[in-house]
Amino acid sequence: QYRSGSEIREMFLKFFETKGHRRVHSSSLVPANDPTLLFTNAGMNQFKDVFLGLEHRDYNRATTSQKCVRAGGKHNDLENVGFTRRHHTFFEMLGNFSFGDYFKKDAIAYAWELVTSPEWFGIPKDRLYVTIFKGENGAGGSFAVPRDEEAYNLWLAQGVPADRIHEYGSKDNFWQMGDTGPCGPCSEIFYDMGIEAAEVPGVDKAFGQDEARYVEIWNLVFMQFDRNTHGELNLLPKPSIDTGMGLERTAAVLQGKISNFETDLFTPLIEKARLATLSGTTLPLTEDELEASYRIIADHSRAATFLISDGVLPSNEGRGYVLRKIMRRAIRHGRRLGTDKPFLSQMVYAVRDEMWTAYPELALNADRIAQVVLAEEVRFARTLSLGLARLEDALEEVREQQDHAFDIVGSDQLGFDDGYSEAEINEAKEIASRPAILPGAAAFRLYETYGLPFDFILDACHDAKIHLDIEGFERARAEEQARARASWKGGAKQSASPVFRELPKTVFEGYRQLTSTGCEVL
Ligand code: ATP
Ligand code: MG
Ligand code: MG
Ligand code: MG
Repeated sequence: QYRSGSEIREMFLKFFETKGHRRVHSSSLVPANDPTLLFTNAGMNQFKDVFLGLEHRDYNRATTSQKCVRAGGKHNDLENVGFTRRHHTFFEMLGNFSFGDYFKKDAIAYAWELVTSPEWFGIPKDRLYVTIFKGENGAGGSFAVPRDEEAYNLWLAQGVPADRIHEYGSKDNFWQMGDTGPCGPCSEIFYDMGIEAAEVPGVDKAFGQDEARYVEIWNLVFMQFDRNTHGELNLLPKPSIDTGMGLERTAAVLQGKISNFETDLFTPLIEKARLATLSGTTLPLTEDELEASYRIIADHSRAATFLISDGVLPSNEGRGYVLRKIMRRAIRHGRRLGTDKPFLSQMVYAVRDEMWTAYPELALNADRIAQVVLAEEVRFARTLSLGLARLEDALEEVREQQDHAFDIVGSDQLGFDDGYSEAEINEAKEIASRPAILPGAAAFRLYETYGLPFDFILDACHDAKIHLDIEGFERARAEEQARARASWKGGAKQSASPVFRELPKTVFEGYRQLTSTGCEVL
């Protein structure tokens, strides 16, 4: 039976209300009392102090649909968006929580009932797998924790066959709030999208067939231990439950789609992205590339809308910088689709139309949000029109150099004498034998002179299937810094061009994050 995203959200909350949970509104994307957290990234964030016993509420079971953003910090899915079928920067996490009330047995029974009961989600059991924590013997000097025998038996008791219960180590199936404090094993529920999902070309390929096929829909955390400063684990007197189920993934499952982006939570936004970026020109893009851009715009417009609604403004540091990065990435994809007019601010209203019933604050804030987005589009357009054209030139030059090298090598192999020297032929061979590379110094010039954000350059190289020489970029930057210091000591000239002065200082922050997530993926 077809269920809309809104119906699924409501069913989840209803289900847990019938099990004695208090329905609590989502907290803001800007964490209230946690400066260590960039954005709210899980349902449990707003209950952190309750779990720690520092705060008491008049309920000990809660259920929420929580706005989450994972686009920086520990959880960063920004680079995945558009290229997997199941990651968003902004998503809704459905959760049920027990604060020292029920524990593993009920948590597993509730989850299995909601997921499989025909009265609720009714997902066929032969499509489901579960995972448990397999235990760790303290390798690496960290900690020794036994296998989660209890969870294993509880899943068996629900009728899950033993060969559908998989076991993983602490990387996937052990959760901890920090280096000390509450922690415990997890169980995850996976849905099998079917062999077709593994075979659909394009999206998700880089992530492996299994990841395209088996999708994690729900994570149950069993807060069982308290880790002290020596790393030792003690049993919590009142263990707790924290779960998170992705609304968009669940919608894909219940709507019979293999991609979150094909659910009703996204299709209207993708349609709007298509209309808002219509340029009337024929684009040199493949179908896959086009669709990736629409997905990215749809995704990022949700993130931008909700972040601005919660009070974040684009800026050059911290949260504002991540927001700016998200918006600029969306704008870049609009450009790639051939539009150079503002379009993202229109997307704000599309997001509002889809989401205001669940998040009424959007209805109130839409005009203000659209204004903020429009201002950013206008501002960015100035920077871009200069920088992007130069970047395209530079990429074209790389392509030509590569083509030229192929010609030289080709005619050399055929034994023609085109009059090239030995050295020239060897250089051509070297160029032809490796992927095309945009030299770091050239990239840095664009970055410095036009204020083109690093991730923009990286993204454009990615699109053009040209490798960016990141080390060279870094070297050029270090040299420039040394030069700037030297000239400053001389007390001399102001070297920055007007565009350069606009350059966000914290571009480097984003850049470090990017390199650590690996830009090898071409
Ligand atoms: P994955 O392994 O797929 O990246 P995760 O283990 O990082 O997911 P959790 O931290 O366990 O995710 O979050 C709980 C649930 O939230 C997940 O089971 C999934 O359904 C959903 N979820 C997590 N990250 C995203 C995301 N970026 N976009 C959409 N849904 C997400
Ligand atoms: Mg993840
Ligand atoms: Mg996972
Ligand atoms: Mg998980």
